[in-house]
Amino acid sequence: MIQGTGLLSSSIDRLGAPALSEPTGLDGWSRAHLIAHICANAVALGNLVHWAATGEPRPMYASPEQRLADIESGSRRSREELVSWFDSSAAQLEAAMTALTEAQWNAEVLTAQGRVLPAFEIPWLRAREVMVHTVDLRVGLTFADLPEDFLVALGDDVVAKRGAPAPLQARLVARSSDTGHRWEIASSDSSNDVTGPLASVVAYLAGRQHPGIETGNGGAPPQLPAWL
Ligand code: ZN
Repeated sequence: MIQGTGLLSSSIDRLGAPALSEPTGLDGWSRAHLIAHICANAVALGNLVHWAATGEPRPMYASPEQRLADIESGSRRSREELVSWFDSSAAQLEAAMTALTEAQWNAEVLTAQGRVLPAFEIPWLRAREVMVHTVDLRVGLTFADLPEDFLVALGDDVVAKRGAPAPLQARLVARSSDTGHRWEIASSDSSNDVTGPLASVVAYLAGRQHPGIETGNGGAPPQLPAWL
């Protein structure tokens, strides 16, 4: 999480004010929208940390509509305001986590997606956000710049969330040619094999651009929707 925050922070620092209105890898979101979302995510995860620390339920977001409205209004902040919001929201989340006791780390909280999970999974939720969105920010970094252990954990996470293959349902096998990692997911398309470097396979599974992916039949791999 700290590594991802550093990567993202130095990426944001390199962006001038005009660059913030340029598009990202996410439909309809400028870089300012994406940065506002990442800041609001730190605040939202901080709500879960508060919940774990006190036992007082505090949802990530007031509502899905409020979440989107806050991203929209946040995107209109100045570059300086966005940079300082990013720094302060990340620092506050980290400080709140550092203060958790072992019992509080094991306390259960409810995410905006309706999943119950122990607080010790919150650092992973944040790591996912900052790492994947650093690539989405289009500052020249790709999945190949992310740490291998993170990529493997992300591949596992995406596949678990996208659903395990059911019997008789067409399945998709994604295999990394450089590390040998292998994932299997259900697919509405015909059975297919997808092979490529670890970074590209995981980018593909996450619904991101995936240079160097090859399929068993030589055609294009089935398109997966963006995840996260
Ligand atoms: Zn996100």
